[in-house]
Amino acid sequence: MTVTPEQLRALAARADALTAEVWALCGGSPGTEPDPLVEARQAAGYLARAAEDLQRAAAELARLQVRPCGLPWGVCAEHGNTLSSRAGITECRVCHRTWSYDRLGRPCEEPATWKVIDQAGTVTRMCDGHVLGARAAAQGATFVRVDEVAGQTG
Ligand SMILES: [Zn+2]
Ligand SMILES: [Zn+2]
Repeated sequence: MTVTPEQLRALAARADALTAEVWALCGGSPGTEPDPLVEARQAAGYLARAAEDLQRAAAELARLQVRPCGLPWGVCAEHGNTLSSRAGITECRVCHRTWSYDRLGRPCEEPATWKVIDQAGTVTRMCDGHVLGARAAAQGATFVRVDEVAGQTG
């Protein structure tokens, strides 16, 4: 069975709802001493924390599920097709960031955050940097930002 970030988020939402319910029921000012609802309010605190933990797990899972771009050449994540490689060192001509390997000659490892659909309906997933180049080159293509949080749309 595969756990998805959506499932974890749904659980987190239920924990949040439970927290709110407990507070609605027991959150009023304590009228009597000793307060019999002390532990119920404590439970609301635990539930709120559980919701946060579930959200964190969902985010971590989504992060891991983002696939690499995989196009056969590297780009600058910010500037796109602006790299030049020489003697095993790659540099972005715009921001002058350098990589100590032939980034240009390797498949792209940036997260695939976009779906590009060309006029024929072919879908290519690519990273921010590659999308810059594709926007300039592809006419009539549709660019859809993949919800990184959802992780695996489509
Ligand atoms: Zn750059
Ligand atoms: Zn890429």
